[in-house]
Amino acid sequence: MIGKGILKGMVETARNLTGSFHDPDRLTTVEYPEQKIPAKENARNFPFLIYDGDDWETGLRCVSCQICEKECPPQCIYIEKDKEKKPDFLGKMQMQPKIFDIDVSVCMGCQICVEVCPFESIRMDNDFEYAGSDRFKSLLLTKDQLAKSNKYYHSIHPTEAQETDEIRVQKREDHLAKEKAKAEKLAKAKKEAASEAALSKAEKAKEE
Ligand code: SF4
Ligand code: SF4
Repeated sequence: MIGKGILKGMVETARNLTGSFHDPDRLTTVEYPEQKIPAKENARNFPFLIYDGDDWETGLRCVSCQICEKECPPQCIYIEKDKEKKPDFLGKMQMQPKIFDIDVSVCMGCQICVEVCPFESIRMDNDFEYAGSDRFKSLLLTKDQLAKSNKYYHSIHPTEAQETDEIRVQKREDHLAKEKAKAEKLAKAKKEAASEAALSKAEKAKEE
């Protein structure tokens, strides 16, 4: 029958209209910005830099390796290395970024920077309120604006943040095991060298 589809559509619209007054599942809009729908755990838009502890400058995980800068498809990351190094979570001295900018007017939220980062330093944020009146200043995010705590990361992506923490714990354990094996090998070599020296000394004394 002609118009059957239109009628069906109107019935559905009426159902949604009346349902939105009592059924939260049919309430598809809210009065933004006063009201906000909490973001889903997997929601993502632009990247941010993670820091550990309370001080973002000392706790920033980024070691300025520039892999993300090279791999970013639209080239919207800009990094300059600092001359001073600082210890990472394993105690190794590492580089740090002097400048780390992301132009979010160009970023396409592809997450490639996150996938290529070997130091679990960069992750995707779900904050979308970046509107500003200045095209360049307000959308070019600098290091201090990009730095967000691991606590924040846990609050927006708890499952992923937990997995990231576990990776880092594993890395720390592997590093400690390696250091221990190295120290044991060195001690063994020293002991062997000392016993060889004692043996040759005893043989020399015997010959005399
Ligand atoms: S999300 Fe994609 S486009 Fe945005 S900074 Fe990372 S790699 Fe570049
Ligand atoms: S965010 Fe990761 S990949 Fe990018 S420079 Fe820092 S450590 Fe390297």
